[in-house]
Parts: sequence; C-alpha cells; structure tokens
Amino acid sequence: MALEGDLIITDLHVEIDGKEILKGVNLTIKKGEIHALMGPNGSGKSTLAYALAGHPKYKVTRGSINFKGQDVLVLSPDKRAQLGLFLAFQYPSSVPGVSVANFLRTAVRAKAKAKAGDTSTATNADAAAVSTFAAIASGNAVETGQGVVSRRPQGIAGADIGFNPREFRKTLQEKMALLQMADNFKGRSLNDGFSGGEKKRVEILQMAMLKPEIAILDEPDSGLDIDAIRIVSEGVNDLKGPNLGVLIITHYQRILNYVSPDFVHVMLNGQIVKSGGRELALELEQKGHDYIRAEFGVPTTGSNEFNEPIVVGQ
Ligand code: ADP
Ligand code: MG
Repeated sequence: MALEGDLIITDLHVEIDGKEILKGVNLTIKKGEIHALMGPNGSGKSTLAYALAGHPKYKVTRGSINFKGQDVLVLSPDKRAQLGLFLAFQYPSSVPGVSVANFLRTAVRAKAKAKAGDTSTATNADAAAVSTFAAIASGNAVETGQGVVSRRPQGIAGADIGFNPREFRKTLQEKMALLQMADNFKGRSLNDGFSGGEKKRVEILQMAMLKPEIAILDEPDSGLDIDAIRIVSEGVNDLKGPNLGVLIITHYQRILNYVSPDFVHVMLNGQIVKSGGRELALELEQKGHDYIRAEFGVPTTGSNEFNEPIVVGQ
C-alpha cells in the first residue's frame, strides 16, 4: 500500500503545446526503491521527468502527483526541489561564468536555508540554485539556446543556517573522487565545454551533494562508454539506501547491470503498459521495442524522439 511519504503519480495526463503526450500514468515510488523506466524513443519518458520537475511547458491536464502527503502540482520547481525531488537532465545545460563548486555551494546552502525555514533573506537565486531544474521557472532562468539555466548564484550567510563550509568541501572532495573527477573540475564553468560523460557526472555530483529523497535520472547513461557508465553507476549505488528512491530512465538495459532495479516499467505511447522485475529489462532488450509495440497494438512510427533540448518561451 502506498504511504504518505511515497511519490504517488496517479492518472497523470500531460500535454505540450496542446498535444497530449502522457495519457494516464500511474506510478508509485517509495524511498529505498530503485525503479527503471524504459521504452522506445518518443514514448514520453522525459515528459514524465519534466512534469515531475514542474517545467512550465508541460501542462498537467488531469491526475495528480503527491509526495510526502503534499500536492506537488501546486508547487513551483524550486519548492519541489526543497521538498526532496531531484531531476538529472537528459541534456544538461551549461552555465558559463558559474563554477561547479560555486553552483553546488549555493545549491547546498539554499537547501539548508529552506530546511531551516529561513525565507526572510531568500532570493530568487537561492531558489534557482537548489538545482538546475529548479531554475526552470524562476525569475533567474535564462535562455542559453541549450536550455534553461540559473544565473550566477548569490552568496548566502552560512553559519546560521546549518551550512558547514568545511563539511561541504570534504563531501565535495569525496564525491568527486568517487566519480573520478579531477580536482580542477571544481573551478570550471558548469557544463561549459564538458564532454557528455563529464556532464552526466556533474548531474550525479549534484545529486550526491543535495541528498534528495526522490531522484529522477533521465538517461544518465546516454552517450557514455562502458567505463563512464560504471562510474556513474557507482555514484548512484553510493547514495542508494532507505532514504532515497530512484527512477532511472533508460533506453538500454546496460546500466541496469550496475544499478540493479527493484522494478522495471515500460512506457509506450504515454502510458506505462507493463511493469515487472529486473527480468523485464532483459526481455525488452532481447525482443526489442517492436515486440512491445506489437503486443500493445501500437504502430511503429520510426524515430520520433524529441532530441532537441528544450528552450522555454519558444
Ligand atoms: P522519450 O523521453 O520517451 O524519448 P519524450 O518525452 O522526449 O520521449 O517525447 C514524447 C513526445 O513528446 C514525442 O513525440 C516528442 O516529440 C514530444 N515532445 C517532447 N518534448 C517536447 C517539446 N518540448 N515540444 C514539443 N514536443 C515535445
Ligand atoms: Mg527522453
């Protein structure tokens, strides 16, 4: 039975520019569980991720999202992040002029501040910096042509809100070592000129530093070679535990060799058509997506993946 602390998605319908993409998604994720969401390109996996994050372009027309007993749909993206939701993007954006360390420091401080209930001096930048995804709908969001990102985060006084700079530096060092990131990474502009693998590692680093309760990882494996997949998986496994629920969106079952899911779901044409255990991922890979399309009477339409990063306001 679903409990109040779970992420409960019920009959979720989402449209983009008037076109219905999600057509009634039901999914419950409990803390401690790892779920994998698979399915062909264009089936709506990223749409689910963006709808959970609260991207304004993704309009929920029916259904509900509940987390920790709260109606998530009424919350702005930054409030969702503060509540403990986290989204790692399929296509992370770059933020020229903001270093990895500065971005993370501001994000961790902002979260501590929100937790301490100190909103008196909160700025838009604080909210935006809770995670890149929270920047989506904040006044601090800017268009870069590659997506929406937050502007330079502002400093926040630390000591009074339970932010410990030494602790932060220590954890950052530890997590970067785990993800096999060189020390000079900290000083580089966020995602600016990063390789695909580096961007994915920074997303996992963000998750490690922010300690969310539910993390949605949209294709953390896409474009990565097997060594990078292993490193990213180690990062996820390191955080795994009773206080974290994970939804890994992936096109291939490869990453699931390293991060073992408790549940596997197959999305097709905007709905979860099948759920099962680990074996479902192997079955899908063996038989291919056409088999699942045939099983559910969905015609093969060729590649219709929306491969372009999203820019708000276009
Ligand atoms: P997946 O992640 O499973 O590959 P997506 O959620 O990206 O699928 O896409 C589902 C459908 O929604 C596709 O038909 C895609 O073209 C469409 N779509 C997704 N994002 C947008 C957008 N920002 N604007 C217009 N159409 C979109
Ligand atoms: Mg996608």
